[in-house]
Amino acid sequence: MILLLHPNTDKNSDAYASLMSKLGELDDIQTRVHDVEGNEQILTEVYLLGNTSALMIDEMQDYPCVERVIRISDEYRVLGRHADEKRACSFEYNGVSFGQDSLHVFAGLCAVDNPKHVEQMMKALQENGQVCTRMGAYKPRTNPYSFQGQGKDCLPWVFELAGKYGIKVVAMEITHENHIDEINEALEKTGHPTGVMLQIGTRNTQNFELLKAVGKQLTHPVLLKRGFGITLEESINAAEYIASEGNQKVIFALRGMKTNMGDPHRNFVDFAHVPVVKRLTRMPVCIDPSHSVGTRESAPDGLLDVMHVTAQGIIAGANMVLVDFHPAPTKALVDGPQAMLMNELPLFLEDVKIARDAYLERCALMKRFQKNQ
Ligand code: PEP
Ligand code: MN
Repeated sequence: MILLLHPNTDKNSDAYASLMSKLGELDDIQTRVHDVEGNEQILTEVYLLGNTSALMIDEMQDYPCVERVIRISDEYRVLGRHADEKRACSFEYNGVSFGQDSLHVFAGLCAVDNPKHVEQMMKALQENGQVCTRMGAYKPRTNPYSFQGQGKDCLPWVFELAGKYGIKVVAMEITHENHIDEINEALEKTGHPTGVMLQIGTRNTQNFELLKAVGKQLTHPVLLKRGFGITLEESINAAEYIASEGNQKVIFALRGMKTNMGDPHRNFVDFAHVPVVKRLTRMPVCIDPSHSVGTRESAPDGLLDVMHVTAQGIIAGANMVLVDFHPAPTKALVDGPQAMLMNELPLFLEDVKIARDAYLERCALMKRFQKNQ
């Protein structure tokens, strides 16, 4: 059960003390308090854990400070959609709003290599009106002898270049909790020219200690990739690990499943799950067409498979696209063969817009249909 308190409830007030003391008297019930910081107000949610079946919604409604009571199922307590669910599905980070109704493209380098390529990428993004990008500094690689990423040394110049070209959010994978401190130190040192969305890669979807670490920090939002060989339920539970530690700014990314059934694509594209994740949870849903498809192959119509699956995800309501680009893919240190080219950026963005407009039209069509029933 969740008690949603009145906005901006003062935790030092007598009313709040009285609420907590009343909750303390309930048998077999533990409480966990979450603050959700919005633009204009702080919403406090009190989670009641344990034997809540005997608690009556009407009674809890009369407790001090309580605005609304929601009875939740056991699954996905924080991130799930529950009956009587009217809580927001969106959050803002560094001036960019993320939710189940918005769409942002994060085009960028799979792996940071050198300042020249990073600057070419950032400049192209700015010229095309983009404020988000992806930049991998810490790369989890299958082979220990492969390039492992530029690591913390590249962070200051990557962040400075992001700031120079108006990039507000950089999605960056971390593979160890120390990387959070390294990112924070580099942001501090450079005067916070940009923001960072912490990405948890598919190999770490069930690295529970890492999930808890990104969940405990409330500064950066988290992009959680779906595990490549586990069920959707297991991956959503991984997201719930993050949120249960306090950080509810979580975006769920579909990136394809590892199976030869998807051949010749690198992974089996799973974007049919976009509406499923939106129905089961309040998380915005990201698609990663690059790591799903893994090649630059195109169909006889001329469109790259990467573009086709992007359109499929967007027309189904995706809220974010994480996509690999590179100014010189043959020189890229990681995943060059799947990268789109710099001159394809405007084409890609226009194609995204076509799919997004089609999705919005489909929603409007459904609304008209429902109105006439
Ligand atoms: C990536 O986005 O660079 C990446 C390694 O993706 P994944 O974790 O989905 O393999
Ligand atoms: Mn990659």
